Amino acid sequence: MRVEALELRRLRLPLVVPFTAAHGTTAVRDVVLVRARTDGPDGWGECGAQHEPTYTAEHTAGAFAVLRDHLAPRLLGRALAGDDVVAALDDVRGHPMAKAALEQAVLDARLRRDGTSLAAWLGAARTAVPAGVAVGVMGDLDRLLQAVDAYVGAGYRRLKLKIAPGWDVAPVEAVRAHVGAGVELAVDANGAYRRDDVDHLRALDAYDLQLLEQPLPPDDLVGAALATARLVTPVGLDESVGSVGEAETALALRACDVVVLKAARVGGLVAARRVHDLCVAAGVGLCPGGLLETGVGRAAALAVAALPGVRLTGDLSASDRYVARDVTAPLRLAEGGVLAVPDGPGLGVDLDLEAVEELTVELVELVAG
Ligand code: MG
Repeated sequence: MRVEALELRRLRLPLVVPFTAAHGTTAVRDVVLVRARTDGPDGWGECGAQHEPTYTAEHTAGAFAVLRDHLAPRLLGRALAGDDVVAALDDVRGHPMAKAALEQAVLDARLRRDGTSLAAWLGAARTAVPAGVAVGVMGDLDRLLQAVDAYVGAGYRRLKLKIAPGWDVAPVEAVRAHVGAGVELAVDANGAYRRDDVDHLRALDAYDLQLLEQPLPPDDLVGAALATARLVTPVGLDESVGSVGEAETALALRACDVVVLKAARVGGLVAARRVHDLCVAAGVGLCPGGLLETGVGRAAALAVAALPGVRLTGDLSASDRYVARDVTAPLRLAEGGVLAVPDGPGLGVDLDLEAVEELTVELVELVAG
């Protein structure tokens, strides 16, 4: 595909309810979408960066700038197949989510041209994936249990509670007592604890948790290995795995039982497939994850979640749980608490261009010379 132009859009999507994790509260999803205009169909990509650099170092305004000034210009006028985009950007250090957005957009254009779904191209093994939901830090047990009732009532099979120091064992104990053994429970600390806290976290072993995600800061893989050895609860890594190389390091150190697989965070779909294959070979579990995506990013996340080695239920939810108005038709929960994996060409979702226009707050178009 010849990349004729790249349209960078910054959108603001109000969330249905504000979402709080250890790293902060989000009330409006401030997100960058990329449209690749090619000599064939247009393709769309989403940058997973959040408004503030508190999940990983990337953030929306920075990603927009690096896309505009450094990444997009490197692709203009080039003939690319999509799966070669990240390699073409290899001289720029870091910025995995910004690179992943461009890869997704060019690959979407090519797969739409070829009539192949992203899921099929990746090697997906399932047509639907069980949905889960992430429940934010609420600070009030009654409010938490009300939210839990609503999600279980809506059909979610797995709940992931965000935890932070001061909001950990008590909410887990309360929710486990409330829902019984039939609902899968996981927790996510988003790196909020330190090595000295591992003994405290052992109290969570009493509640049959599916996963303790990212207990320690992203760069403390030695600490993660200590936690993995000391805890009965499976330890997962999310923020710590920002590339294929970091996945290899984590596996070599036995720093986790599970990797949370998010294509944006590891630098794209090709990288996600590689991380998947490394984890399968190492006998490490894989759990899908989300980044408060619009329908564009969620479609790609569902294709990744359908890979054969991804056996754990993660926290991919119906899109109407997050945003009132999306840029695609809403991805809804189907019978049995599952989300269908889009099977149309490319991402398999159609953009609502009117919504895209109305939600856009900044637009830059770079055209090949
Ligand atoms: Mg996480």
